[in-house]
Amino acid sequence: MLDLAIRNGFIVDVKNKKFIQGDVGIKDGIIQSVGTICTLAKTEINAQGMCVSPGFIDIHMHEEDFELTHGRTYDISERMALMGVTTAVAGNCGNNRQHPRELEKFVNHVGSPINYMSCIGNNFLRKQVGNIDPYAKSTKKQIEQMRIQLYEAVEEGAVGVSFGLEYCPGTDTNEAIEICKEIQGRDNLFLTFHYRKDAMNAPESLMEMVDISRNVDIPLQIAHISSLSAYGNMQKILNMLSEFREEGLDVMADAYPYAAFSSAIGSAVFDEGCFEAWGKSYDSILLTEEPYKGMLCSRDLFYKARKEYPKMIAVAMVMNEDEIVMALQHPLIMVGSDGLYRNHRGHPRGAGTFPRILGKYTREDKKLNFFDAINKMTLMPAQRIGIHSKGQIAEGFDADIVIFNKDTILDQATFEHPQKAPVGIQHVIVNGNLAVKNGEIISYKTGKYLKKTSK
Ligand SMILES: [Zn+2]
Repeated sequence: MLDLAIRNGFIVDVKNKKFIQGDVGIKDGIIQSVGTICTLAKTEINAQGMCVSPGFIDIHMHEEDFELTHGRTYDISERMALMGVTTAVAGNCGNNRQHPRELEKFVNHVGSPINYMSCIGNNFLRKQVGNIDPYAKSTKKQIEQMRIQLYEAVEEGAVGVSFGLEYCPGTDTNEAIEICKEIQGRDNLFLTFHYRKDAMNAPESLMEMVDISRNVDIPLQIAHISSLSAYGNMQKILNMLSEFREEGLDVMADAYPYAAFSSAIGSAVFDEGCFEAWGKSYDSILLTEEPYKGMLCSRDLFYKARKEYPKMIAVAMVMNEDEIVMALQHPLIMVGSDGLYRNHRGHPRGAGTFPRILGKYTREDKKLNFFDAINKMTLMPAQRIGIHSKGQIAEGFDADIVIFNKDTILDQATFEHPQKAPVGIQHVIVNGNLAVKNGEIISYKTGKYLKKTSK
């Protein structure tokens, strides 16, 4: 007797880029068989006319902040599950919202609808060792302490080391290299970077990331490459990536499918010179809160809002759409949401990224081939992370599955309603159990905390 059988679906064979029409049989959280299955199951799902795909894997997101959710409620985990994500990597851009140990404890004791893994972040470690000024250099002693803590986190199963150089100008190249000394040469990890500077400074930022990766001999994953270089030099950056790859550097990147980012209007991102760097003007900035809700900036309004309401979330529609497409189409780029919420507010990418790839960029705009798109959201990140039991629907693989309608799947989250769930996703199965049934979360205990073990 099987635990679960999914009948009559179009099973996505990611490796061979084709559909297999038939059933999937699941027992003890593992896919037992694929094809025509006669064995009965405790739970039956009729997937007639639906795609049965490996669950989406989000290599780049930002986990719950337990200070805000009190370690009891959920913010982004729910959004992730509802858009078909079954495994997510936390602790990106250098910024763990709490120690990975805390996240592990939460998932094990309270539960999570999705599987979590985590990076250990440089900016987080700086605070742990008492360097709270992002502009200040770390002392020799602090670097040594960070090196030890980083090593411990990796030993405890962190999947990678993340840096947020733009947020932390005080971290120089040398600090980045020094804190990785204990883990030098490990090939079951990656270094992931939120670069130091974007737009016209992107090539220089890329060179620094490559330099650090080469120095410590660990693969390089560039975070949200669209916000690094979709301002006129994406082609150049992609060409550089391909060249480094040919020279033997293990480099890849992720991207989210939006031409806008969001940040507090008072933050350093909007400092003097930003419009020159982006090649855009004041009216590319949308204010999202009262008294200026829904207004595009003029020069006066921009400075007024910065001064009067520095914490107001502003949407910067400053990236070039054709360069977003260019990134998504590139063979070294996979999909990552960079989803980040604070009290249910933030960028819609945290609730819409994966359905948007399939709805807008694949079905409507025809910019991506369906199977290539699925690969960039399943098998490719699974291999990058090194979780070889995920990313495919095949015998022996983990039963992480999303069942969706290829003709209707689409994101619904907007900058006004950043957490609105997508349409077209019917069921989400995590470790063999239904986390989402008919578009509603039914269990918060289906996920596991996954550790990266050394080879
Ligand atoms: Zn980032």
